Amino acid sequence: MKHDKENIMVILSSPSGVGKTTLTKKIQQKYKNFKISVSHTTRTPRSNEVDGVDYHFVSKDKFKELIDDGKFYEYAKIFENYYGTLKKYVDETIKENDILFDIDWQGTKQLSKFKNLNIIKIYLITDKVELKSRLIKRNQNTNDEVKKRFNSFDEDIKHWNDYDYIIINKNLENCFRQIENIIEINKIKPNFFFQKIQ
Ligand code: 5GP
Repeated sequence: MKHDKENIMVILSSPSGVGKTTLTKKIQQKYKNFKISVSHTTRTPRSNEVDGVDYHFVSKDKFKELIDDGKFYEYAKIFENYYGTLKKYVDETIKENDILFDIDWQGTKQLSKFKNLNIIKIYLITDKVELKSRLIKRNQNTNDEVKKRFNSFDEDIKHWNDYDYIIINKNLENCFRQIENIIEINKIKPNFFFQKIQ
């Protein structure tokens, strides 16, 4: 389907533990027109997560059924679980709102193939030492999961060049300001300049 070109879709990807969730929330607080895309996943909810808010938590069978019925714009297997973005949600939301996606590089590649979508792709990166301490501090994963997430860092960052913008997340406020700039540049309508020149 053709989408309203005035609304934008912003993808925020990063190795696990870089601070995406906090940034996503800050963006939504500042830009009221942004809706966060709530993905479907087969992962078990963490203690602080709410079904329908953080994710739609579904069984593997249900997820497979959604794949078979062609309901996803994109989906990926990450750390033994499946994650995906429903077409219906995106197609309906973009009519009135901008959308923010917290998805990985595999999903970003798949979404990029839909040329009708007005997508801005941002990759957040941090250094490995900082990442390890964040993953441990976060205390939401078992030691095994921390190890898995940390080890996926090298594979993950290989895909940075599929993105429009790369931000180094040394300081969250600074990083947020850069995202604000990106959003504001991309929300300016090209014909605004055209009218001014005339
Ligand atoms: P977590 O289990 O920590 O919530 O998320 C693990 C990874 O899955 C993160 O890198 C996140 O960006 C990614 N992810 C979350 N939802 C989706 C989705 O719908 N599609 C894809 N491709 N990745 C997702």
